[in-house]
Amino acid sequence: MPTHSLRHLNSFKLAANAKELIDITSIAQLDALLPTSGNTLILGGGSNLLFTQDYDGLILHNQLKGIEITQDDEFYYLQVAGGENWHDLVMSCAKQGIGGLENLALIPGTVGAAPVQNIGAYGVEFCDVCEQVQAHDMESGSKQVFSVSQCQFSYRESYFKAKRQFFITGVQLKLAKKWQPELGYGELKAWAQSLNSAPTPLQVANQVIAIRENKLPDPRVLPNVGSFFKNPLVSMEQARTLKFSYPAMPQYPNQGKIKLAAGWLIDQLGLKGYGIGGAAVHQHQALVLINKKDATSKDVVMLAQSVREKVAEQFGVTLEPEVNFIDAGGYSHLDKALTYV
Ligand code: NAP
Repeated sequence: MPTHSLRHLNSFKLAANAKELIDITSIAQLDALLPTSGNTLILGGGSNLLFTQDYDGLILHNQLKGIEITQDDEFYYLQVAGGENWHDLVMSCAKQGIGGLENLALIPGTVGAAPVQNIGAYGVEFCDVCEQVQAHDMESGSKQVFSVSQCQFSYRESYFKAKRQFFITGVQLKLAKKWQPELGYGELKAWAQSLNSAPTPLQVANQVIAIRENKLPDPRVLPNVGSFFKNPLVSMEQARTLKFSYPAMPQYPNQGKIKLAAGWLIDQLGLKGYGIGGAAVHQHQALVLINKKDATSKDVVMLAQSVREKVAEQFGVTLEPEVNFIDAGGYSHLDKALTYV
């Protein structure tokens, strides 16, 4: 029988249990584990996971801590343990006048989860600041160091996300001392234009926080997992056809395709506030699904499917969840969850 509650370890606050759970606070603990084959799940902040069933395996909770900063004439080098809190790292750097991470303020989760998802916001992605990623391979029991190209980063994707067997023990970040703020995104751009002088990293971080707090639900009040769906990439041809029918549709070139804003598509259908059971589309940001009151995993799965169906019907675009579905056997997906909820 599963015995470890996961409710406090997932930011959607869904009720689920795990058969076994170990807090990893030292690399020696990882070394002592036998190579695993199969049901081992690596958990960071639980801010991008959706437990749709009790988990029938071992969960390793990354609690490795430590930050070291070195520098030369041109760069700061940060060695950060995987269990550190991402937002705390961003703010610590910004307060020390170290620029480069400020656009990524208030992203929930751990440092170790950042490369897996290649987290991104307001025109900056983790891959822009990453120098290397250190990981423990759960299948072979070996330690590995990945260069940026070996991480195979792309839009919200990486080698680690594809493989899943790597416990990220640490990352090394390289931040230029000649810092240039990235202020190209709409709301940041408007703010920057209103300033009399160039902002500091801390000012940018605080502005990102203000923008996000205005729009995104606080997970402590309305549990959620951030963007529930990925922004879909469509062909140039499909984008042209859509633009013809919906002239106001935001479209951004990305990786030889056109990126659409999933939140805009959902919002156009008037789905802000739309709910099933205790789960709902957030009133201010349609891309975020929230646990409004005692949501079950069934509520969330049914709501996600309903939103996906409505968007497909209207725009001919299939939304893919950004959040990871976890069932009894591990990583799963929305279509599978629909068969058992
Ligand atoms: P927004 O400003 O309402 O814009 C909607 C989408 O359009 C964004 O997702 C963004 O794509 C894209 N976009 C906007 N301006 C762009 C530009 N100048 N160039 C290229 N793409 C542009 O977005 P939002 O929902 O409030 O989010 C703001 C930022 O925070 C975004 O970067 C978003 O990715 C990030 N965010 C991430 C999460 C998460 O859970 N992963 C949650 C909330 C917000 P991109 O997503 O590709 O940037």
